[in-house]
Amino acid sequence: MATTEQSYFQRELELRREHLLSASRANAGDASLNNLLASVDAALSRLQAGSFGICETCHDTIEADRLLCNPLLRFCLDHLSSDDQRALERDLTLAAHIQSGLLPPKDWCVAGWQARYHYQPAGLVSGDYCDLIESDGAFLFLLGDVVGKGVAASMLMSHLHTTFRTLAGQHLPLQKLVELANRLFCDSTTAGQYATLVVGRAWPDGRVEYVSAGHLPLLHVSAAGVSAREATGVPLGMFCSTDFTVCELTLAPDDMLFLYTDGLTELFNAAGDEYGVGRVASLAKRYAAACPEDLISACLAEMQSFSGGARQKDDLTLLALRRVN
Ligand SMILES: [Zn+2]
Repeated sequence: MATTEQSYFQRELELRREHLLSASRANAGDASLNNLLASVDAALSRLQAGSFGICETCHDTIEADRLLCNPLLRFCLDHLSSDDQRALERDLTLAAHIQSGLLPPKDWCVAGWQARYHYQPAGLVSGDYCDLIESDGAFLFLLGDVVGKGVAASMLMSHLHTTFRTLAGQHLPLQKLVELANRLFCDSTTAGQYATLVVGRAWPDGRVEYVSAGHLPLLHVSAAGVSAREATGVPLGMFCSTDFTVCELTLAPDDMLFLYTDGLTELFNAAGDEYGVGRVASLAKRYAAACPEDLISACLAEMQSFSGGARQKDDLTLLALRRVN
């Protein structure tokens, strides 16, 4: 385990220990507090001995995202007791339900724009982020990907959701909004946790401004062709103070913006070829005149035939925005 992770867990465990000690002073004789204290002490001993984060059954590493949520874990997912397995399934089902409630309405429309999206976790919960927020006579569109998968990534996704929903009401210029969100995200993540993200603002007359924090190219789809807009900055949460460049473009009526996560581009076929941004762009070009639903359906159908129906390994999000008259 890296030194930074080790000291992170050390601090987290010591903090839990202090809280448990003061709680058990106030509630002397509470057996559950004493049991927890013993578990925290055992985890601290494992850290000292170098066996922290190793499954006691198979001696393989315990999934990092689970360990971040609960540093007291002693077993990997494959070696949970059946009671623990059932509890985990209940928690995940509830988390998935909460997460689906964070998504924007499926039939989203505002003056001058129509948006459709497809949000598909690889497991029960996703580390992808997708939102549409009306503010100041325009709307914000957001699509991102928190590094990793599963529960820890989904918690950071919901953190992003809350952050941007809160900041959207503050009448901030886009650059300031992303800088603040970055700082808040940095403060709440540990080393190695970050998110790639596109944050854009669109007006009814077709004007668009956006920041792409290390995300895959944003595609501007028009009758003239497809133009790929590369990232304008580093991922969110990587550096606490960094500038994000705002880019602008104008969409003519019927033009579209197409955004996606690496669940699309990092799809592989049986021959081991990656789907890649080039294929996304050529698909978008063929469907330039389609409505957002049809572009998304065509994309899903092409993914299916490209991968030969293989099981989805990564969280997937597609977002298509069309300027309408
Ligand atoms: Zn194991």
